[in-house]
Amino acid sequence: MKIGREDFEALIKGEKNITPYLELDPVLGSYSAFGVKTASNPNYMIKAVYEMYEAHLNRKLAVKAMRKLYRSVGAGSLGLYNLLKKFGMDLKPAEFLMLVFKLQHQQGWGAPFELVEASEKKIILRTAHTFESEVMKDWKMSVCGIHMGWIEGVLMAVTGKSWYCLETKCFANGDGCCEFVADQVEPSWKYKAQAIVNGDSAITEFIDHKPLEGTIKLIDDPVVIMPRFVFTSMMNSLKKTMGEMPAGGVNYRAYMDMGKENVEHYKKMGITNPNTLANMAFTFYSQMGWFKIIKMEWDEATKTKTLTLEHTVESEAFGNTGKNVCYCTAGLLAGIVEGAFGIKVQGREIACRSKGNDHCVFTITNKKE
Ligand SMILES: [Zn+2]
Ligand SMILES: [Zn+2]
Repeated sequence: MKIGREDFEALIKGEKNITPYLELDPVLGSYSAFGVKTASNPNYMIKAVYEMYEAHLNRKLAVKAMRKLYRSVGAGSLGLYNLLKKFGMDLKPAEFLMLVFKLQHQQGWGAPFELVEASEKKIILRTAHTFESEVMKDWKMSVCGIHMGWIEGVLMAVTGKSWYCLETKCFANGDGCCEFVADQVEPSWKYKAQAIVNGDSAITEFIDHKPLEGTIKLIDDPVVIMPRFVFTSMMNSLKKTMGEMPAGGVNYRAYMDMGKENVEHYKKMGITNPNTLANMAFTFYSQMGWFKIIKMEWDEATKTKTLTLEHTVESEAFGNTGKNVCYCTAGLLAGIVEGAFGIKVQGREIACRSKGNDHCVFTITNKKE
C-alpha cells in the first residue's frame, strides 16, 4: 500500500482514520497498519513483562524498568519522522508525538492524547486511560511506564535532547485520567545517582553492558563483575604470607581507602551533603551485591553508628568459620563514613554470620587522635 503526505494530513486533521490502511492476511499471518507490519496487542504479554520485572524489583521499580524498555520503542519512531520530513511535513515535537499516539491508539496501543501544554522544554499530555493502566489496574498505583518511556523515546529521537517524563495522575491509581509531564533535562550523573538513593530507580536501569566488547558501565563509570571467591582467595593468599591478624588489618586498610576514594568520586560529581554521600555509597554497594542493609542506627551518647547487614560478600564467600571474617566490609563502611563526614573513624565488626550470628553487625566510632 502506497502511503503519502495527504494520507498523514487527513489522519492528523481527523478526516480519516486508519481503518482503510489496515491489511490483514490470516493465511500469511501478516497484518499491517499504515504500511507498517504490526501485530495485535496481547494484554497477557504486557502483564507478563511487568511481572517479570516485579519478580526482581518492587512494583514501583518494575514500572521504571518498563519505562526504560519502551524508550527504545519510542526511539524507533525516528523512521516515521524522517519519512514525514521527506514529504515536506515539518511537525513540531509535540505535534509528532500526538500523531504517533494517534496511529498507535487506533491500533489498540497508545493513548488518544489531549495536548495540555507544549513549549520547547515542557510537554503535558492527558488521556482518560492508557491500555497498560487497564491491564495493570490491580496494582492500584501509577503504572504507565510504557507511555512514560515511549514519550521520552519519541522526544529524544526527534529533538536529539534528553527528556524526562513523569506520570502525575494515573487511572490505575484511582485518578480520573493518566497525565504525563515531559521535561527536557540535562542528563547528569548526579540526577541518576540521586534517583537510585531515593528508591526511584535501581542501578539496573543505568547499567550499560556490552559483553562482546568486554565493557560494563554503571552511570558512565566503568565497573567489572567479580566472582565472590575473590574474597576467600585474597584473604588466604595474604594469610599465607603474613598470618591471619595482619592479613585482616591489610584488607581493612585497603578497603577503607577504597571507600574513601569512592566518596571522593561522588564529591567530584557534585554531591556535597555528607549524609547523602554516605547513603549513596551504602546504596550503590548494596545494589552491587555486597550486602543488604537491615538497619542503620545512631547513638548520640556514645557517638556510635551501628550498621546491621543481612549478608556480606565475605560471610557468604567464607561460610561458617566460627570467626568474624568481614574485614573488607568493615574497612569499606569506615572509609565511606570518613570520606563523607571528613572525620577519622574506627570500624569494628561486633557480630558475624560466619561466626554463627544472625547478621553481620558493624560499629563505627570516632577515632581518638
Ligand atoms: Zn496511567
Ligand atoms: Zn561478617
